[in-house]
Amino acid sequence: MAKFNPFIKLITLLITLSFSSISNATLSNNAEADALFTRIDNGEAVYDNELYLNLLNQIEPLIAKNDVNRQLRLARARCWSHNIFEPGQIAKALDFAKHALTHPQLSSYPNHKLGLELCQTWYAERDGDVESALNGYNNILRKAYALEDLRLVADSRAMRGYLHSFQGNFSQALEDLISAQSLYDNLDLPIFVEINLYEIAKAYRRFGDQKSAIRYFRKLEQIKRKNNNFDSANTMLASIAIAEEELGNLHKSKALFEQSYQYWQKKGDDSLKATVAVNIAGTLIKLGEFKQAKKYLAEAEPIILENDPGFYSYMHLFYAQIYLAEKQLEQAHNSVALSRAAFSSLKNASGLAQLLQIETQIFREQGLWQRAFNSQTAYIEIHNQIDDKLLSSYTTEMRTRFNTEQIENENRHLIENQKLRELELTMLEQNKLQQGIIIALGGLLIVIISLFAYKQSQKNKLLSALALTDDLTQLPNRRYIYNKAQRCFEEALIYERPLSFIAFDADYFKRINDTYGHEVGDNTLKFLADSCRAVLGTKYIAARVGGEEFLVVLPNTDKAQAINVAEELVQRIRNANFSSFPEGFSITISAGVSSLEVTDNKLLPLLKRADDALYHAKHQGRDQVKSL
Ligand code: GH3
Ligand code: MG
Ligand code: MG
Repeated sequence: MAKFNPFIKLITLLITLSFSSISNATLSNNAEADALFTRIDNGEAVYDNELYLNLLNQIEPLIAKNDVNRQLRLARARCWSHNIFEPGQIAKALDFAKHALTHPQLSSYPNHKLGLELCQTWYAERDGDVESALNGYNNILRKAYALEDLRLVADSRAMRGYLHSFQGNFSQALEDLISAQSLYDNLDLPIFVEINLYEIAKAYRRFGDQKSAIRYFRKLEQIKRKNNNFDSANTMLASIAIAEEELGNLHKSKALFEQSYQYWQKKGDDSLKATVAVNIAGTLIKLGEFKQAKKYLAEAEPIILENDPGFYSYMHLFYAQIYLAEKQLEQAHNSVALSRAAFSSLKNASGLAQLLQIETQIFREQGLWQRAFNSQTAYIEIHNQIDDKLLSSYTTEMRTRFNTEQIENENRHLIENQKLRELELTMLEQNKLQQGIIIALGGLLIVIISLFAYKQSQKNKLLSALALTDDLTQLPNRRYIYNKAQRCFEEALIYERPLSFIAFDADYFKRINDTYGHEVGDNTLKFLADSCRAVLGTKYIAARVGGEEFLVVLPNTDKAQAINVAEELVQRIRNANFSSFPEGFSITISAGVSSLEVTDNKLLPLLKRADDALYHAKHQGRDQVKSL
């Protein structure tokens, strides 16, 4: 086990390294920024502009200047930060969007581009550019479907639905809003589910289906109370009050409005109190309580400004009704003019129709019959248009309800696609990481294997060297020299070159061992090997083939040359300086030479001849060379 420890350590180190290089400072900052983006996307700050700006300011220093994707995401979020209730902010938002849309790399981020266009369109609608806003939503929705960006589909449908609803196109409004509803539901965005539910309720209310509207508003009120969102719950009360008023339940409506009014008063929110005041005035007028109504309007007037045409238009419509009742007809006309401008900018047909009815009565009161007739005619025209619209809406409303299932199916399909894509993406990310690790580990493994292979080959070399070398003399051994001899023999035959062998053997070696001991015997063998190397150089190869027997292979060497080499060897040993040996020590060798003859076709007889010649030399008195 201990043997594997370095390997495990190395892998651990490698994995640690790869992870630590991923989780560097920038990445953790990005994670922090993304978490904040998610909070914005989930709508946490949708009712709290201060928190919204705070989140944006937290994100900004966290993301790198060259991180185009996150910079564009930030620009998108920043675009929505402009508060339409503050003067000049709509124009600022439009400037911001226009500028952001000139970003040179925007085309590489089509979703961000579309998000910025949606923001631009929404503020253009707030700026009164309703027609181009509708075109804008249509285009954005088409592109959002093409990109299969569910959030953008949901948002642009919700916004277009809101616009349709306001313009009195209820069936289209409901189709958009219901579709957005199921998308928000599936994307798990409860805050937007609620906002959109509110729009659906409002669309029902405008559509004339007050009972459905009240049902939705009550449901929302309960959700909001459950979430301790009492402000919103209170807003729902005002909405229920409007629906009750439409149903003709004026006292019920008045009571609900008053409840809502008192809530804002207690909270000290003057601008919301003012909007409720406008609504109460409408109910009180219907109840004939003009004085009370005027008091509420007077309170709202300094707070409800032209930049909030929804309330501004009705506030002046109610003023016109009161002035008419008070017979202050010039002032009534002034109020009509202010109201008309606001309704026209909103293209609010039903508001305009109500206004024309009041105007007709004012002219009648003034005895201006022709003008009264003109206003009456205009009213009838608009009324008919609204009726047509309502009639077609009633029939298409049925279709919308029927189509809800189809919309749900479409959405489900989109959501499934998106989920698949997300899954693919996470798998891709995981794969990338895994691939990184595999590549790193693979690299490591290759290094280890190479090292191992290298070591192994070194070991093999060593082993084979060991297998072919004589340990004592470091000369090649018997196995090696017989192989070499065989190759040389074959080459000599093929190329018809001379080849000779010298076999030599220490004389009376037994005596050396017996006289000086085995160690001196060993040293003698080493000395013989050294002598061999000195005489033979690299040209010839000598090997120790037995105890004190040696064989020399002499390629390209004829018998005469070989005898000369053998003589030199014998003489050198005979005349050697034995000073490193015990006193009186000496050694000689006998050598037999054989050379290749034309009749030779096998190696062994040739080697046997060298041995025979050696035996012959021994027999002749040793310390000499014989050849055969
Ligand atoms: P001859 O002149 O006839 O060759 O006589 P010799 O004594 O050399 O004869 P023989 O071949 O009978 O003896 C060889 C001796 O060499 C026998 C053995 O003890 C000794 N010998 C063999 N290998 C080694 C070795 O590795 N080390 C030592 N010290 N002695 C060895
Ligand atoms: Mg011997
Ligand atoms: Mg011998």
